[in-house]
Amino acid sequence: MAPAPKAGSAFAARLLSWFRQARRDLPWRRTRDPWAIWVSEVMLQQTRVEAVRVPFARFLAAYPTPAAFAAASEDELLVAWRGLGYYRRARLLQQGAREVVARHGGVVPDDVEALAELPGIGAYTRGAVASIAFGRPVVAIDGNVLRVTARHRGVRSSIETAAAQTAVRQAVEAWLDPASPGDFNQAMMELGAVVCTKAQPRCGDCPVAAGCVARTTDSVADLPVKKAPRAALDVAARVVLLVEAGHALGVRIPVGEPNAGQVELPGPGVLVAVDALDFAAELERRFGCRLTLGPVTATVKHAITHHRITVRAHTGELRRRGRLQWFPLATTTPWTTPARKVFAATGLDLGEPAQQA
Ligand code: SF4
Repeated sequence: MAPAPKAGSAFAARLLSWFRQARRDLPWRRTRDPWAIWVSEVMLQQTRVEAVRVPFARFLAAYPTPAAFAAASEDELLVAWRGLGYYRRARLLQQGAREVVARHGGVVPDDVEALAELPGIGAYTRGAVASIAFGRPVVAIDGNVLRVTARHRGVRSSIETAAAQTAVRQAVEAWLDPASPGDFNQAMMELGAVVCTKAQPRCGDCPVAAGCVARTTDSVADLPVKKAPRAALDVAARVVLLVEAGHALGVRIPVGEPNAGQVELPGPGVLVAVDALDFAAELERRFGCRLTLGPVTATVKHAITHHRITVRAHTGELRRRGRLQWFPLATTTPWTTPARKVFAATGLDLGEPAQQA
């Protein structure tokens, strides 16, 4: 006789009952299409829910299937991912889509092992796609789930350690409701996003407050235990903004550098501080161009991991173009986010807001 299926835990019952009433209506929650769920999960990594809504709809309108995205050019990929940052995710997603076309006839496989072999699909994304799209009883543990579980179980070792992550995984696997794994995983993430938040957990509204170790030991603010974060560095960067006949002078970022393939405004690199007096000489050294620099026409802020960057854009006069090129001021050019912020600040709107990435 086959063993009886594992029953959902009392924890899962309370969590699911809350989730079915409190869940936010998000675009990716209105579908079971595994490709759409895969795309949403990749976009949501390191990115706020609100910043994903517009790119998610735009991306799926352009690439409704893995085959459509598999055939996209590098420029099309960069344009499709604009506003989200961390472009490596998009390249891995495309590698995964190409693998789905090559090995699975363009259909995202309903198989946990086959999902695990796709490029760019780690344990979290695999769990999310398998459980939400296909109803497979596997857990999906993201930062929210780590936090909720570390608090609820009172995990005292640093959350970055293998020991802590194993303890969390075992707890979540024990809680998982095998009849509703997709809803269970989403409910855990939702609880972390809206109730058991990093800064202001609302234990009074928590559906699983009973049995929460952090709450009963008054250690909610101390958990999860984390290594001290690195302090953000302030960087003062400069670029030059030269515009002519609907084009701006730019440079394609070479392969091997961060944001490879995108087009940036000429400068020493967005993380390189340079004095105004040295700027023209630095541009000549880097690109073989000759410019007479004018005043700063726009100052924009940009933040990337561990850096707060102030970008000053100078006007100027071009005397020799060197290796710089003219690129269309259009959404079809994969301008970097700092470049799009400079365009917006100077009234050179490309037709959509420059989002933080
Ligand atoms: S009771 Fe508080 S600390 Fe415990 S899981 Fe709920 S919100 Fe988080």
